[in-house]
Amino acid sequence: MVDVLIVGAGPGGMSAAIYSARSGYSTRLIDPMGCGGQLLFIDEIENYPGLGRTSGYKLSEDMESQAASFGVEVEYTEALSLSKSGDIFTIETSDGKIEARSVIIATGASHRHLGAEGEEEYQGKGVSYCATCDGPFFKNKKVVVVGGGDTALTDALYLSKICSEVVLVHRREEFRAQKILVDRVKREKKISLILGRNVRRIAGDGNKVERIELDDGSSIEASAIFIFVGTTPNTSWIGDKSILENGFVKTDRMMRTAIAGLFASGDARTTPFRQVVTAAGDGALAAHAADEYLSHQSM
Ligand code: NAP
Repeated sequence: MVDVLIVGAGPGGMSAAIYSARSGYSTRLIDPMGCGGQLLFIDEIENYPGLGRTSGYKLSEDMESQAASFGVEVEYTEALSLSKSGDIFTIETSDGKIEARSVIIATGASHRHLGAEGEEEYQGKGVSYCATCDGPFFKNKKVVVVGGGDTALTDALYLSKICSEVVLVHRREEFRAQKILVDRVKREKKISLILGRNVRRIAGDGNKVERIELDDGSSIEASAIFIFVGTTPNTSWIGDKSILENGFVKTDRMMRTAIAGLFASGDARTTPFRQVVTAAGDGALAAHAADEYLSHQSM
């Protein structure tokens, strides 16, 4: 039995773990991939206060060692279901059951697919959802990036440092991304923009991507397509759908769900802003709310 079980080890989960263990609670962090979550896909972070410029990988490593220094246990396992009986939560995992007095859901979100013809066929053959993972395979090649949010623009800038040319295709004329990123993209000579267009088909020779076809009938000769069209929350393992809204976990401003002792933080919850720093802030609040809940229980 653990006091606080945190499901998901991205920045929200690691922050919750640091606060919870530091307050003296037995704290376990579970994630099939270990620590990092989406942090591991971020090449460069420059808006986490106090750190200047750093990589997602480095920030993740630092958060993990900070959590370990407070005695957080990390287990590489996947949560499959969640139930509550009396005051005790039971989480079925790929490696057996874990019982906990409180649970923080921090499972984050995963890359959304575009749904274009050829997308599934060419995955790993030029279709990618991670610039830092796959960008170096396309050194000095022409690539396409799809999307108009922070991820698409940040990663188009990253790819422009490696690739010979980056064509950014976005379905609207306006960008959802922060203005500072839009200005940088517009200034970068290696990036060209195609706006108001959708990708219709990803074509190739069966082994590699060769061409991206757009909905106006035009096409772009390119070796890869990086797709950044948003994320979907990793909450399908939660059986009680009444705590979800469009797949995201509903919380109040203290990160409490409608179930006593169950909290959520980061990208998996209903929030207007999904950043590393907001996930970390959510994690701290969730751990604080769990502390209040557990303290009242033991009275
Ligand atoms: P996002 O903000 O949801 O943007 C998704 C983009 O994909 C939008 O431009 C959207 O177009 C487009 N899109 C969605 N479905 C599409 C489709 N079927 N076909 C073509 N285009 C489609 O997702 P994100 O950029 O991954 O960002 C997720 C969250 O992480 C955001 O809250 C973001 O601020 C945050 N983030 C922060 C940082 C940072 O702080 N440095 C870096 C990365 C991400 P429309 O605009 O037309 O809807």
